[in-house]
Amino acid sequence: MRTAGDLVAAAGCSLVVFALALHFRLPAWLAEESAGRKGTQADAVVFFLATVAIGLIMFASRQWRKSVRNSAHAEARRALYDPLTGLPNRILLHERLTDALAEGRQRDARVAVLFIDLDRFKWVNDTYGHAAGDVLLTNVAERLRAAVRGEDLLARLGGDEFVVVCQEVSYTGEAETIAERLLMALGHPFFVKDAELAVSASVGISFSDPLARGRKDSADTLLHDADAAMHRAKGQGPGRYTVFDRSMKADRVNRNKFEQRLRDALDNDEFALHYQPIIDVGEERIVGVEALLRWEDPARGTIPPLEFVPQLEDSGLIVPVGEWLLGEACHQVVAWSKAFPDLGRLRVSVNVSPRQLLQAHFGDVVTRVLQRTGAHPEQLCLEITEAALMGDVVAAWAGLRKAKALGVTLAIDDFGTGYSSVSYVRNFALDVLKIDQSFVRALNTSPEDTAIVKAVVDMAHALHLATVAEGVETPEQLEELRGLGCDLAQGYLFSRPQPPETIEELLRGAPRKRPRQAPTARV
Ligand code: C2E
Ligand code: MG
Ligand code: MG
Repeated sequence: MRTAGDLVAAAGCSLVVFALALHFRLPAWLAEESAGRKGTQADAVVFFLATVAIGLIMFASRQWRKSVRNSAHAEARRALYDPLTGLPNRILLHERLTDALAEGRQRDARVAVLFIDLDRFKWVNDTYGHAAGDVLLTNVAERLRAAVRGEDLLARLGGDEFVVVCQEVSYTGEAETIAERLLMALGHPFFVKDAELAVSASVGISFSDPLARGRKDSADTLLHDADAAMHRAKGQGPGRYTVFDRSMKADRVNRNKFEQRLRDALDNDEFALHYQPIIDVGEERIVGVEALLRWEDPARGTIPPLEFVPQLEDSGLIVPVGEWLLGEACHQVVAWSKAFPDLGRLRVSVNVSPRQLLQAHFGDVVTRVLQRTGAHPEQLCLEITEAALMGDVVAAWAGLRKAKALGVTLAIDDFGTGYSSVSYVRNFALDVLKIDQSFVRALNTSPEDTAIVKAVVDMAHALHLATVAEGVETPEQLEELRGLGCDLAQGYLFSRPQPPETIEELLRGAPRKRPRQAPTARV
């Protein structure tokens, strides 16, 4: 539009110059002067074209100057604003916060920093994919923008982290009210990829102290303090805010130390696998084992996975650890199959986290491990949680499809605890459905849970899936499961997860595979 305007202006200028020139008979005069002859109509045309050319040159130069100005402006914007949300980025935030602190010192006014981090954003990204994650972040930015006061600065620090800077906060409660408003703004669901997502956030608040003598608050200190407070809030559950106090500094240091400890644990071979037998309910014999990760910390002893697998996932360390344990589990099952051939082909189940599945080459990792260890694909079962199959199924499924094509078995773990839809179970070529232990625990006591287990077993069988009951602890539960037609079971009733040497003892004494009986002739 503005370009068209410039063009009209340039043409207008040319016409004015042309009209004036005609008025003063300039072309004829020029022609007479230069050639000593009278001006003709052709001179007028030539002069007209010359003025148009001058106009066009004026227009082009104006456009060029404008584009140089625009690109310099765009460059400056790119450097200071987040391209996804259009909010000020880390650099501009730092600048503005430093200015706000200087101003606060002059006027004895406190500055509050609110550090906002979405809860479970990594889960959204892992399950729905990065494009959906981006849409969510844009929507979150819009809601936050609407919730802050006009004079506050809202910036995106990166990832799912946002910061609000409030100048002249007279009392602590004022910043807390803003935190509450921000949390409320995220309180109703977001719609991403046709899914309704309930997203909450954790907020940490820090304040400057303009009256502190001998210590000047810096933008970095305030951001670090608010970050530490945010982590404390997150530890208390989703959707909370906390105001910074000195004790929180230690939290951050501990978290970084813990991640470093996990890296060292990987380097020092401190991770180990324990195995839990999986039993055929009908024949009551071991048909496989589930590999469960343990951390043998020299200082603290054996640490269960729920205490460190989330950190392995957050830090991405689950990828190398996962590849290591896949190889270890395959290697172990091959060794046991060779040592106990009369047990039939044992199968090892390995838990795979969504982060591993979203690796571009997960299928190749499985292929490589099978080749290296000599395990038959049928000896490996990959256990995936419902969350991994919910969202960015295309990406998660690419690696699984490759493994499945090799003949690897796929199981859905903890069925019934996530957001599973029956259509996922139907649409993906799953082989095994593991019924979560919360349902199994309630067998014999809750008719409703018994009804759920029965419905799940029937559905799985109708879809040609085998069923495994998790967490079987009593003979009564086993009996009930047998009555409901459940195929396999695992739980403390048979054995707790044990180191390989103990499992080996169990396998040595385990009931052998019954020889196939010849069909009895009907009479
Ligand atoms: P999961 O895959 O569902 O594993 C079964 C969990 O139930 C194991 O806990 C096991 O010890 C426990 N369990 C088995 N039988 C019984 C029982 O009869 N009663 C009770 N109360 N519990 C029983 P564990 O080993 O602490 O593992 C917890 C979770 O950690 C696993 O749940 C899995 O989601 C995750 N995990 C374990 N190893 C790995 C791994 O190698 N990779 C990944 N990504 N996750 C893992
Ligand atoms: Mg499992
Ligand atoms: Mg499970």
